[in-house]
Amino acid sequence: MLSLFEEKELPESQPEFSFADVILPVPIPRMFTYKIPRNLYSEIQIGARVIVQFGRKKILTGIIGKVHNKPPQAYEAKAILEVLDHQPSVNPLQIRFWAWMAEYYCCHIGEVMHAALPSGLRLSSESRIQVNPNFDKENSPYPLDEREEKILDALENQSELSYDDCEKVLGIKTIHPILKSLVTKEAILIFEKVQEKYTPKIETRIRLRSNLAQNKEALEELFAQLSGKVKQESILLKYLRNVPVFQKPELNEKGLDKSTLLEEGDSESSLKTLIKNGVFESFKVVVNRLEEIQPERTASELSPIQQEAVDSIKSQFEEKQTVLIHGITGSGKTEIYIRLIQEVLESGSQVLLLLPEIALTTQIVSRLQEVFGSQMGVYHSKYSDNERVEVWNGVLSGRFSFVVGVRSSLFLPFDSLGLIIVDEEHESSYKQFDPAPRFHARDAAIMLGYFHQAKTLLGSATPSFESYFNAQQGKYGHVELHQRFGDAQLPEFYLADLGADRRKNLLKVDSTRLLREKIQEALDKNEQILIYQNRRGYSPYVQCEDCGWTAECVQCDVSLTYHQFSEELRCHYCGYKEKVPTSCPACGSTQLSTKGMGTERIEESLSLLFPEARLGRMDLDTTRNKYGYQRILDEFGAGQIDILVGTQMITKGLDFGRVTVVGIWDGDRILNFPDFRAGERAFQQITQVAGRAGRRSVKGQVVIQTRNPEQDIYAKVIAGDYKNFFRVEMAERKQFYYPPFVKLIKITTRHADFKTAEKAAIALHREMAQIAVKKIVLGPERALIGRIKNQYQFESLIKLDRSGATQQEFKKRLAEILEELQARSEFRSVRWIIDVDPS
Ligand code: ADP
Ligand code: ZN
Ligand code: ZN
Repeated sequence: MLSLFEEKELPESQPEFSFADVILPVPIPRMFTYKIPRNLYSEIQIGARVIVQFGRKKILTGIIGKVHNKPPQAYEAKAILEVLDHQPSVNPLQIRFWAWMAEYYCCHIGEVMHAALPSGLRLSSESRIQVNPNFDKENSPYPLDEREEKILDALENQSELSYDDCEKVLGIKTIHPILKSLVTKEAILIFEKVQEKYTPKIETRIRLRSNLAQNKEALEELFAQLSGKVKQESILLKYLRNVPVFQKPELNEKGLDKSTLLEEGDSESSLKTLIKNGVFESFKVVVNRLEEIQPERTASELSPIQQEAVDSIKSQFEEKQTVLIHGITGSGKTEIYIRLIQEVLESGSQVLLLLPEIALTTQIVSRLQEVFGSQMGVYHSKYSDNERVEVWNGVLSGRFSFVVGVRSSLFLPFDSLGLIIVDEEHESSYKQFDPAPRFHARDAAIMLGYFHQAKTLLGSATPSFESYFNAQQGKYGHVELHQRFGDAQLPEFYLADLGADRRKNLLKVDSTRLLREKIQEALDKNEQILIYQNRRGYSPYVQCEDCGWTAECVQCDVSLTYHQFSEELRCHYCGYKEKVPTSCPACGSTQLSTKGMGTERIEESLSLLFPEARLGRMDLDTTRNKYGYQRILDEFGAGQIDILVGTQMITKGLDFGRVTVVGIWDGDRILNFPDFRAGERAFQQITQVAGRAGRRSVKGQVVIQTRNPEQDIYAKVIAGDYKNFFRVEMAERKQFYYPPFVKLIKITTRHADFKTAEKAAIALHREMAQIAVKKIVLGPERALIGRIKNQYQFESLIKLDRSGATQQEFKKRLAEILEELQARSEFRSVRWIIDVDPS
């Protein structure tokens, strides 16, 4: 285990320490000791980024985790090469958080660092060439060919060249052999150029030269000289209109960017002349990529019910770190958050608001931006590396005291959080699956809150059983909101029995009739419709009608999904794709048919059924680029889309007043979740998507299509009786030992060879049985998807009691066991994946 976490407090950095333990982004379970060179003493601080050599060749960016005087036992410490930060990029609280995460989620602190630090804050290294100083062209025994000469000529103008530069010089792509020959002829040297990945955004600006900006007479003289030169005169006049140089000299310092100065019709060459003649000067400034946004409104006045909730949350925070706000969809939780955020910001602390995924952020972000303007930073995966660095630095510098983001924003360099809000806390996308750290952002947020002595507010209309259980036990505070804001009512539910017609033995089924009627009614009233199907693509199977063959991935044990738009079969697990075969590869028949409905096909069918309606689709395939979500949501919000078909992306958070009908295309798909959370998930998903309907004065209608309308769960969701549902499900979980009554750890054993994978999984199982803590070990079993990307998978599930001591002891022994197993030659290439609290 990491000594760092046990120590709790980190030493202040002091010049007399001669070694530093550096956290490096590598999957090895420890930090690495480096010597602090004398000349760098004064710059060494905990949390600063440093450059070190790792192994024989690699140059890595690390973070100083600790300083001390103990030389390492097993190896000679190398010296730190460079310190990159005057001000540490990472603070001690973060390092503590990383260490906790590595320990709790059974991974390495380097892996946490890798996830935490935006890659723009790391260095990139690139090979470059320079002239060998010992090279004497005249007396060299090796003649250079024409291309080699060209490279050397280029090196006379530029002291170093990247490989890309060389390619440009010669206009060819195969540069390696030429460079290699130049090295052999001792003409050039190749070296690694290390540089920061982050590149600031630089803008060229124009301003009036100071001799003119400070001297009215000189300026008048200039106009006299320019008389007749209309183009130049007009540019100068435009500049002076925008920048009153005598009244506001500071504006002249900032200048204007070229595009503002030169409008259509203005000539670039006149501007050039003005610069050449010393009227204007051009200069470069570093500008922010993140735009400045002014607040547009103050927070809404709260309803008495909302105000009561705020008061109750605050009073419960006096005693408890965490409060759960359980408020039905549309009850006005976001406005409650806004009030609390404002109060915390006014007190001088920072706030983090977590959202489960980007699809959700678009709408809520603009709502929050209206109130908070640019003191609010936004952080998510569609941001570029450079933008992420600017958010990171914005938190460091205090520009952003409030951040809204997805789970990775837990890693931002906050130093005084007062409040963390986890919205839609039940969302499974808060859990990171791959790669390590496989953390749950809600649980990590509570821990981060604890380190900051901050409060954590969990919000949901359908709380996770874990959180609701904790609230019931009194561990968390608890606030409930039972009413929608304003006049809005909860929607009406309809179960459409897809099996009914079939049972009557009718051949042509028309079971989607109810949904179609509801859609038509809504269209007639100019209202909007959401159709939810959790399956993208056209159809999830392609099957041969004659022999039953189905298209499967060559690398995974799953069927391939047909995507009509690209005319391809694709694997949604590994990305493999192939052209659709024209005949069955097994029997040659051309009777291939597509089975099942993906979002693409539903969109197509609906557009045939409702030719007058405008259709939109939101799924992974239509939202790949940065503004994909935004565009679709904007169109939907502006009423340019009547029916929006989508995957779970459309089920959460959306607040559109004109949506009155929600169709759940295939309710049974939601029920077939393959584990103990099936019921909980189904309840959440159906309630959430239904919650998009009728959020204003018109009552919404929700149609659930199912072949099993008698299923208990539908009645419960429709009754909206979370508490009763919770009680019944929890009794089962207790009886069969499932969370939250026990802790789960899942271990996946992976190998390209079936036998090896199986053997390794069994060996692990045997070793785990020996661990002397109270536990239940299930498995090993073939994973639900037995093979992914040509790797066979087996799973073991461990149930532990909830005590921290049991878990720590088990994890410690498990790490030792895996190390022993991995050391056996037969298991060397086996991969073990530990997933703590799998979901
Ligand atoms: P939730 O987050 O609980 O689903 P929202 O905060 O989105 O609910 O509120 C639902 C709708 O009611 C939104 O359109 C919101 O703008 C409106 N609303 C909520 N509270 C207020 C308020 N105090 N004043 C005005 N409008 C409000
Ligand atoms: Zn066939
Ligand atoms: Zn695959």
